[in-house]
Amino acid sequence: MAAGAGIVLIDTGAHVPGSLLQLERALDHAGSTLEDVQLVACTHAHADHWGQAGPICNRAGCELWMHPNHSHAVEALSDPEGAVARRLEVARQSGVSEAVLRRYAGQIREPPSGVAELIEPDRDLVAGVEIATDLGTWTVYETPGHAPSHVCLFQPERRLLLSGDHLLGRISLYYDYGWTPDPVGEFGNSLDVVDRLGARLCLAGHGRPFVDVRRHLEGNRALVRERLAAVAAALSEKPRTAVEMVPEVYREPLTPVNAAWLLTQTLCYLRHLELAGTVTRVPGSPAHRWRRA
Ligand SMILES: [Zn+2]
Ligand SMILES: [Zn+2]
Repeated sequence: MAAGAGIVLIDTGAHVPGSLLQLERALDHAGSTLEDVQLVACTHAHADHWGQAGPICNRAGCELWMHPNHSHAVEALSDPEGAVARRLEVARQSGVSEAVLRRYAGQIREPPSGVAELIEPDRDLVAGVEIATDLGTWTVYETPGHAPSHVCLFQPERRLLLSGDHLLGRISLYYDYGWTPDPVGEFGNSLDVVDRLGARLCLAGHGRPFVDVRRHLEGNRALVRERLAAVAAALSEKPRTAVEMVPEVYREPLTPVNAAWLLTQTLCYLRHLELAGTVTRVPGSPAHRWRRA
């Protein structure tokens, strides 16, 4: 976004070979250069949104603004061994077999992080912080759920929403597991936060902009309700592990490709239902089971 003599960059894309050059080409199409960037503001600390913040801020000599609850991303970079061990333990407790865990461990040992370097925000992007641009002033709204560090930006005169991954054109639910007490509940509250803004046009972090913001909010709420009901229903007959529930809840088999994604979500729904008193965790070794309360 243009801002005086320079630009404000919202989110950076992941850091992969050639990605900075791609960004420079895109900026060139818009008549700008990397050196014109006056500020990098990231909607959240997932690699595809802040991965290039380091090199961009270095080149442009500008600040990074991001929400301080970014330990979900920072820890994976500063302590990769610990992060892998934690993921394996979560998978083990979910009921993933030892044979599969061994294969999985080999695959995630050296993951490309998509983050160029660990860079701390110069300023915390928390509720009420404002970013001035030629389109007007944008206000920060904290919207945790998808990630603990997630924020949306709203421009009230134009009723424009920069939604990051909180609200996408295609409804796709994802929550970071294990960093906050109840990611699903937090996501629901964040949908209400955005609903109250009355946005007219949503510019999402992926895909095309869309105008029917309220319908998208409702679609997200409906899918969350549906998933919660499916998780509770999957426990109606007997206690089960998260792995045992997945095929029924999502109506698809658990595969190496979808396992981390679907298990993480399922654990977040179980956590939400546990806090609501609907389900109870039955600790076990190696896997925990869940039953109706
Ligand atoms: Zn994300
Ligand atoms: Zn994303």
